[in-house]
Amino acid sequence: MKIWPLFILLLGLIACRNESQNHEATTPNILFIMGDDHTTQAISAYGGILAEYTQTQHIDQLADEGMRFDQVYCTNAICSPSRATILTGKYSHLNGVRILGQEFDTSQYTVQQALQTAGYQTAVFGKWHLRSTPAGFDDYKVLPVQGRYQDPQFWVKGSDSLVTYPGWATDVITDMTKDFLQNREDGKPFFIMTHYKATHDPWAARPPYDTLWQHQSLPEPPNLYDTYEQRSEAAHRTTLKLEMMNQSTYPHDRLEDADWKAQRGHIYQQYIKSFLQCGRVLDENVGKLIAFLKEQGLYDNTIIIYTADQGHFLGEHGFFSKRFMYDEALRMPLIIRYPPWIKPGSTNDDMIINADFAPTIAEMAGLTPPEEVQGRSFLAQLKGKTPKGWREEIYYHYWQHILHRAVAAHIGVRTKEHKLIFYYGLPLGQTDKSPTPPEWELFDLVKDPAEMSNVYGLSDYESVTQTLKEQLKTLQVQYRDEGLEYPEMRGVQVEHFWTSEK
Ligand code: CA
Repeated sequence: MKIWPLFILLLGLIACRNESQNHEATTPNILFIMGDDHTTQAISAYGGILAEYTQTQHIDQLADEGMRFDQVYCTNAICSPSRATILTGKYSHLNGVRILGQEFDTSQYTVQQALQTAGYQTAVFGKWHLRSTPAGFDDYKVLPVQGRYQDPQFWVKGSDSLVTYPGWATDVITDMTKDFLQNREDGKPFFIMTHYKATHDPWAARPPYDTLWQHQSLPEPPNLYDTYEQRSEAAHRTTLKLEMMNQSTYPHDRLEDADWKAQRGHIYQQYIKSFLQCGRVLDENVGKLIAFLKEQGLYDNTIIIYTADQGHFLGEHGFFSKRFMYDEALRMPLIIRYPPWIKPGSTNDDMIINADFAPTIAEMAGLTPPEEVQGRSFLAQLKGKTPKGWREEIYYHYWQHILHRAVAAHIGVRTKEHKLIFYYGLPLGQTDKSPTPPEWELFDLVKDPAEMSNVYGLSDYESVTQTLKEQLKTLQVQYRDEGLEYPEMRGVQVEHFWTSEK
């Protein structure tokens, strides 16, 4: 009996199996799910006063089976700029999208292009919100600018006109993702970006969630009735206050002849219910994706990432929207599940920024990002280790100036203990649009996590202020965002971005 051929065959089979395992290990599937404005306070895995109502059981499941990141920050808290940073791994001033409506140059490095070139099947479905045709995707179906919830229209790859999809946008985007998965090529890994419109304004929901909590009041954040004592002119003057919310942003009922406080509380109840109802539809859809991946045998060999493009105020400081460097807007949710690397139920509190997403996803796919990428991969953290020399502070730059929701542009540094913000204001004499003065805010995040008391200029904080100013300068050099000298920025050439575009 000849056993040699059998033995060789067996060896060959073992080698093949190892090769295929190695191949899988270096090229896992990646499903990147992003909510819009879906802030940590609206996700029960992050706790908070609303956890009993948010009930995001499916997103929570990803956290229970994966890793929850607790200190993830965006570098410019507004939709398009954060999306450009997520794709490029670079700050706004280098990727070219500092404000809404700016052209996105798709000839620069993007993570989806890199993965596509490396043999991934790539696709994006849902909200794109960049001024450019999506590039680096084998397939796309994207909403025009914000799109709408009911019977949304999409720009579809290969079609010159908008295509209407009957149904609710959140469900439609899930179905597109499932269709792509079902019809994908065999033998190639995938990278899909599923970008929901939820929970962006106008915060609408479909049944059965649209009638939740009709006869009850939801908890208010303790600083809902903030009066901005000892704070910046920027905080005083912003129109992010709930009682100033425009009916076109969200159709709400107003009290007649009520003072600001009563009005704020009244609008808060409508706003928070709508926001959380909208989030419940989103979470249900994350559940549908989980179920589908399980059905297809893809649940354990797909890296599932859940995040949002930035945070959002849910009545903290009396605000809605984002933009400010205050934590509720600055902080992003980030939950990742992938059993081969991640210990179930783990958490991480390293300081991560949205510019880190592209290099991390690239490294997940076994790729090295180019020099121009400013973020750093946090793949090691997923495996339970913090690399040496990991950052101890983050740098922020909000560019969209005061006319849009009246938030003055600002730069800032956040460490684990403090936050220093510089609102650089408008040069006087260059505009009659009620300029804000150049001004500083400093928060002691240990004593004052809600950021209610500006301690800038207090003698107890002189030394830490000096250190933070040095850190701010160093970060500006490191990220090549120089040319904005402070506090003498008044009179310096500052670009004015007057835009009414959403
Ligand atoms: Ca957003």
